[in-house]
Amino acid sequence: MKQTLLEKYAKVAVQIGANVQKGQRLIVNSSTETRELAREIAKQAYLVGAKNVEILWNDAYVSRYGYLYQSDEELTTIPKWFIDRYQHYVDDGACLISITSPITGINEGLDASKIQKANVATSKAISFFRNHTMGNHTQWCVIAAPNAVWASKVFPKLAKDEAVEALWNAILQASRISETNDPVAEWEKHNEILSKHNIILNDYQFDALRFKNSLGTDVEVKLVKNHIWAGGSENSSKGIEFNANIPTEETFTMPHKYGVNGKVVATKPLDFQGNLIENFWLEFKDGKVISYGAEKQEETLKNLLNSDEGSSRLGEIALISHDSPISNSGILFLNTLFDENASCHMALGRAYPINVKGGVDMNEEELEKIGYNSSLVHCDFMFGSADMSIIGVTPDGKQVQIFKNGNFII
Ligand code: ZN
Ligand code: ZN
Repeated sequence: MKQTLLEKYAKVAVQIGANVQKGQRLIVNSSTETRELAREIAKQAYLVGAKNVEILWNDAYVSRYGYLYQSDEELTTIPKWFIDRYQHYVDDGACLISITSPITGINEGLDASKIQKANVATSKAISFFRNHTMGNHTQWCVIAAPNAVWASKVFPKLAKDEAVEALWNAILQASRISETNDPVAEWEKHNEILSKHNIILNDYQFDALRFKNSLGTDVEVKLVKNHIWAGGSENSSKGIEFNANIPTEETFTMPHKYGVNGKVVATKPLDFQGNLIENFWLEFKDGKVISYGAEKQEETLKNLLNSDEGSSRLGEIALISHDSPISNSGILFLNTLFDENASCHMALGRAYPINVKGGVDMNEEELEKIGYNSSLVHCDFMFGSADMSIIGVTPDGKQVQIFKNGNFII
């Protein structure tokens, strides 16, 4: 990994991702596997005037020993100083960058319920911090960096070093970073294109979208009233623009939980709880999956659909041009941050309140009244293709072509 490229990537994370402000504190979640990137991010943040950069190191191997050797009680006792620290980040207006670098399969063979208990205890204790970031009260950003285990899963035929290098190249390409470009300018341009799509689609306020391709997808997805198309950069409640995900290609909104009819054929495998569901399809009636099939892991698909009441209905519909860097790479990253940005996708399960006017201020009951789907799962799957056609139906019945041959034409 060349230093110049690492520097460019860190710059994008700091200036476009979290958009760290002069005098602001930056918190970086980093694995010990990704320390070079964490260091470079710290440097770039100081260069734009951050008052303090704090790295919260985590190590999946050490966590594993905890799950293995600590008692339930030890794992679920959260000390007060830990909570206070996060409260201080909120009070101080800190922004956040999280570097994701999954050690694929690290917790295999461990007691899953023990891991679940530990995670629930921590996330409950600092749920105020999660609400603070997810509610966009500050700027936050998720980016990725490779480790040897993950890289070898994505590129199983390569030697470890080569796999890491190949995954770095793929991540940088997907993140619009090259030796010759100015990635910050590139991202500003990209955000403009995404926001243009959001504005046009928001103006139309389509009643429904009709998807069709030669693989057999033929489905109508009704959208909730007063839906909001989001994607690309967002504004924090303090009015600072940031990008929550790098990369991001999607423009997404809220389908109506009772308004999906027809058949959808997936175009990429779906990784659910470590099992790969391949060549599958779903048929919807009045929003609910009524039949389905898969060439591989049909049982896993069944488990996903039966997770709870909302997991057989949709919570998200996202449009992505087939001609995008991630899709063009043809790589299956085995990580949602990338794979969901390769193709038009839908999500089974929970919807996002931000996708409807006033949604963030509504309670669960009010949301459900307008067609919001609630569930413990949110599982994206890809169904876009090079020949996808999408037609929007306006509230007065007019038809507008949105996608032709897999790409946006509006
Ligand atoms: Zn999405
Ligand atoms: Zn999603």
